Amino acid sequence: MGCRSYSDFMVKPNMASSPDVVMSFLLEMSKMIKPKADEEFKAIQDFKREKSGQRCVDLEPWDEAYYKAMMRSSASNLDSSVVASYFALPQCIEGLKMLVESLFGATFHSVPLATCESWHPDVLKIIIYLFHGDMGYMYLDLNSRAGKYPGCANFAIKGFWLAFVLVILQVVAIVCNFAGSHNSSTARLSHGEVGTLFHEFGHALHSLLSRTDYQHFSGTRVALDFAEMPSNLFEYYAWDYRVSRGFAKHYSTGEVIPKKLVESLQGGYVCRN
Ligand SMILES: [Zn+2]
Repeated sequence: MGCRSYSDFMVKPNMASSPDVVMSFLLEMSKMIKPKADEEFKAIQDFKREKSGQRCVDLEPWDEAYYKAMMRSSASNLDSSVVASYFALPQCIEGLKMLVESLFGATFHSVPLATCESWHPDVLKIIIYLFHGDMGYMYLDLNSRAGKYPGCANFAIKGFWLAFVLVILQVVAIVCNFAGSHNSSTARLSHGEVGTLFHEFGHALHSLLSRTDYQHFSGTRVALDFAEMPSNLFEYYAWDYRVSRGFAKHYSTGEVIPKKLVESLQGGYVCRN
């Protein structure tokens, strides 16, 4: 197929274009982050030493996630149910609304589903507007249930295109498996799930705000490595206190999420001294 290797074949349609480009990017980045990574590994190793009571401990690959979680919770008494109490699903959707308005001047609201349009009673449908023009529709099917598609993903159902004078609006669906609840109005998300929701919403918005002559060029129908860019940028907002303080409020008291809690979520364990 005219390729030197499987990686050559896989990378060719992407913006990176060749495995050499990917390799040099990885090597360059690894050089940049190595001092920080060494510092973090040392902090984890010290923590393991303290916990095990042994003077000499090696850090095994499986230790990293285990001790990191322990360090986070011991640094700030982080309890995942306390964190989740600030991230009720309707509040998180409000947060996305806030972002969409301030970034793009766009807005959205929920619309009723027609008979037989929905595949489950938990599915929400929203319409996005920009400058009073309809941009498209988004289905949100976020909570886990038996027999559901596993994992989290954005599905571009219909791409934008101009059919002579007719404008065909896009339709996308975000399908996730959030574990907290089976009901969208009462669900509370873990912080990881908030990041996932923001990530998938970034993909969905990439589709909905796109305007192309042909549907197969619209939205996320681009080189795979570029398709992950808007979603990754959006995911960062879930970690930024300037954003989370605007929507993350305690489900019963309405208290805004404390800054300290967000700092702990950001991995404050490394700087705990
Ligand atoms: Zn993605």
